[in-house]
Amino acid sequence: MTEIKPRELPPKSNFIKWYNSVLKLADIADKRYPIKGTFVWLPYGVKLMRNIKEHWDKLFQESGISEILVPLFVSRKNAEANKKWYEGFQKNLYSAVLPTGKSQFILRPTGEPAMYPLFSLWIKDYGLPLRVYETVSSYRYESRTTHTLIRDREITFWYEIHTAHKTKKESEEEAQTHLEIIRKIWKYLSIPPIVVNKPPYEVFPGAVGAIEAYTILPDGRLLENGSINILGQAYSRIYDITYMDEEGKKQYVWQICTGNGARYLAAVIALHGDDRGLCLPPTIAPVQCIIVPIMQKKSKQEVEAECLKLKEKLREAGIRVEIDLRENITPGEKFYQWEIKGVPVRIEMGPREIQKKCLTVFRRDLLTRETVESDKIIEYLNGLMSDIGATLENRVKKLFDSKVKDFDTIEDAFKWVRKGGVAKVSWCGEQPCYERICETEQAIEAIGTLLETEKKHECIVCKKETTNRTLVSKIY
Ligand SMILES: [Zn+2]
Repeated sequence: MTEIKPRELPPKSNFIKWYNSVLKLADIADKRYPIKGTFVWLPYGVKLMRNIKEHWDKLFQESGISEILVPLFVSRKNAEANKKWYEGFQKNLYSAVLPTGKSQFILRPTGEPAMYPLFSLWIKDYGLPLRVYETVSSYRYESRTTHTLIRDREITFWYEIHTAHKTKKESEEEAQTHLEIIRKIWKYLSIPPIVVNKPPYEVFPGAVGAIEAYTILPDGRLLENGSINILGQAYSRIYDITYMDEEGKKQYVWQICTGNGARYLAAVIALHGDDRGLCLPPTIAPVQCIIVPIMQKKSKQEVEAECLKLKEKLREAGIRVEIDLRENITPGEKFYQWEIKGVPVRIEMGPREIQKKCLTVFRRDLLTRETVESDKIIEYLNGLMSDIGATLENRVKKLFDSKVKDFDTIEDAFKWVRKGGVAKVSWCGEQPCYERICETEQAIEAIGTLLETEKKHECIVCKKETTNRTLVSKIY
């Protein structure tokens, strides 16, 4: 759709400006929709997001979690029934006002008050464990600065897994299953997430624990990117979600809920992209390979015919391939446009290549060209696609390593954070110490306990010995 003229993209070092330009130039999002915190998904963005969603659909369903769709309207009575949840979300709630002027419903900010009043009935119908998910839009009135795909008022492509179990142990195993699935989604996106256990005073309203994934964005800010909430029996007691045990006694279920969505794509854009635009992992690229014919008038027919033959060969091998036959723009401009869209591989073919029975293959991640024999192209591309995925992942690992530094004093840690870094510090786990390493006004936060085990260190605040480590940074 968008006709791209060279040099429209600011350098990535100017991160938010770069990010917003990429959304526009790569046809991902149109932010001109006249309601703050919302946007229109453009064709390339929808294709990208669907490729990510298809993967989570596959992983959830392989694990036996079934897809459902629950209405957007949530009964206000059911929402208010859970006091902690209601207090936590009250200032973010949109109401649905009826033509009569009554407001009996809210728009779903999360799925709990919509689904849980039905859980007891479903357990009677289908038994335990109950394991379902939905992918929907959710609505939260955000007072903080909105950023497309990162903090929206309409949160699109949002999945929520909700499960109910007979025992605490079973629910804890379920949380681990969700973590394994989430790690697989991230692997697919070539991004290694940072995973933490949240302290009990920092969890989802009403929950008893949480495991959260984070990514560090190029400006050094942390982005919360997916959570597994351990609800214990807090919600089942409120919504009376029960089953009869073997002795005929009523028991409350143990619950887990897990959610994330378009922030996966935000991380892909932010972490893999460069000064030339998007750089996509082949797993989710709507176009994995673009063929650009290089031709003059007299060679046009022959080159086009060969390019079409090649396209068919690649398509049959299962590669998502397109060919750019536009005549009104130069090959150089075509290169530029497909680079902004992050297409992992470009094949250039002209009379020289045809004569030598070879192809010029350009890889978007390293910006390098190789000459490949035509009859070995499929094998070569298959290897190249997984190599690109691995290269991108390594690059992100290196970026994270360069951002995270260890500190022993709060002053030095904050100094590093203000410079756009992420400080790794020891922390005993107690709330008063936690509050000392957060600066809410400057959006500096600690993120909970890293899952990695560490040697004993002293808490950066109270000097008590601890193995807990956390990251402190500005946060989106
Ligand atoms: Zn402490």
